[in-house]
Amino acid sequence: MDAEMQGQVAIVTGGGSGIGRATCLELARRGVRVAVADLSAEAAGRVAGEVIALGAEALDCGVDVTAAEQVERTVRAVRERFGRIDILVNSAGIYQSGTIDQVSEADWDRVLAVNLKGTFLFCKAVIPCMLERGSGAIVNISSISGRTRSQLAAVSYVASKAGVIGLTMCLASQLAGKGVRVNCVAPGSVSTPMTDLWSAEEREFIRRSIPMGRLGCPAEVASAIVYLASPAASFITGETLNVNGGAFMV
Ligand code: NAP
Repeated sequence: MDAEMQGQVAIVTGGGSGIGRATCLELARRGVRVAVADLSAEAAGRVAGEVIALGAEALDCGVDVTAAEQVERTVRAVRERFGRIDILVNSAGIYQSGTIDQVSEADWDRVLAVNLKGTFLFCKAVIPCMLERGSGAIVNISSISGRTRSQLAAVSYVASKAGVIGLTMCLASQLAGKGVRVNCVAPGSVSTPMTDLWSAEEREFIRRSIPMGRLGCPAEVASAIVYLASPAASFITGETLNVNGGAFMV
């Protein structure tokens, strides 16, 4: 339990898997009530069960982050159930690798819609609730690929993740005087269902490029996300925090 966070309410998109799931569980350990939002209602329900098993309250929400009316319905449901929203973590995302000839217009639209528009839609829906109370913390998930030379990722993914950093800084400056902080985490390569899709050769190529000599695990990213969402980060806004085993340093 965390005396300062206990009783707060968080929405975690992409909460049914990987980094989002680990974030739901870390928030639950702090006593935060968690709305697990995911495209897969089944995965959201499973993680909500894990949150409850840790002694915290949970609500599972099946939602496509690219559909404004579904996002708004989800935010309404969370307010009706818990009465407030303190934290938003935008972890829903899809990956694409390859060269530009392998990226169709439909691929581009889908990757940008989930990773960037989904983040925009959830921020837009949640910010009025945070402004009503004069407090809140948003943590968006970018990527090492949005910050530096990408090794495998496609233009669609890189552009979406660079866009998330820009969106974060813009919102952070608009909301800095209103009690709402907006930050970003840029993970390097992390073992999740997303990177399980890599071939053994790709995984080894990536592993060798990481000074720590290994991929990260979801809990190592979740702890950075929860730090930025917590009162311990009360003077931090507009920041992008690398969590990458030394693979990229600024
Ligand atoms: P993951 O395990 O695949 O989790 C992503 C979650 O987002 C999945 O549950 C997925 O649901 C959900 N999702 C996809 N499209 C959605 C939509 N339209 N609406 C709602 N939910 C949707 O991947 P992860 O590795 O944890 O990734 C989490 C975030 O970290 C992503 O933004 C990713 O880009 C970023 N990231 C990951 C890494 C890495 O190495 N893993 C590195 C840098 C950044 P379904 O499974 O049902 O599609």
